[in-house]
Amino acid sequence: MESAATLLAEVEDGIVHACRIAQRERSEVTLIAVSKTRPPEDIEPLIAAGCRVFGENRVQEAQAKWPELRERFPGVQLHLVGQLQSNKAEDAVALFDAIHSLDRSSLAQSIAQAMQKLGKAVPCFVQVNVGDEDQKGGCAIAELPTLLAEARALEIPLAGLMCVPPFGIEPTPFFAFLDRLARDNGLVGRSMGMSGDFETAITLGATHVRVGTALFGERD
Ligand SMILES: *Cc1c(COP(=O)(O)O)cnc(C)c1O
Repeated sequence: MESAATLLAEVEDGIVHACRIAQRERSEVTLIAVSKTRPPEDIEPLIAAGCRVFGENRVQEAQAKWPELRERFPGVQLHLVGQLQSNKAEDAVALFDAIHSLDRSSLAQSIAQAMQKLGKAVPCFVQVNVGDEDQKGGCAIAELPTLLAEARALEIPLAGLMCVPPFGIEPTPFFAFLDRLARDNGLVGRSMGMSGDFETAITLGATHVRVGTALFGERD
């Protein structure tokens, strides 16, 4: 098993290379180290190697792991990249620095309520179900304009759009599509690209790449 520093350097090389190809600045892309299922012992070496933004997909798991880590490493940011239930919205707003899975009107209302109650504004990405998959989170493409209008009316700070393309098929058209949707809707952020395709995503406009396996090794 390679060290955290080596794995981070390899991913970083990939990001720099993709930025060069796309004639983009490295500073336009945020690397989110997705640490779901990883214990703090696996996370700390990555922080030591210089990683500053982490992602979790479950609120409860993050609540168990991160308060102590954040106390010890105050410069670290935490993003929620997984689906969010409305009844966990307040916990999510309290713990996370960004939410990537806003995908329905009821959740927008719960998030807005929580932000008001806690006096904390958390930037949100609206997740789009770009592959029109039954089982997947994300709002339907046709419903995006309505959801964005609702979120804006609720004064939720909109960071951009997020997608998880269908598994096992070429993701390029979906990345290009999300990029166009973001542009058409006047949004800067594009949260797209994982371990297998983050370089491609960057060449197509990703501003946030969510990388787990390439930084931590295979999950059990
Ligand atoms: C797990 C996960 C990732 C990271 O996936 P890897 O293939 O391990 O890089 C990215 N985004 C979301 C939403 C995830 O749940």
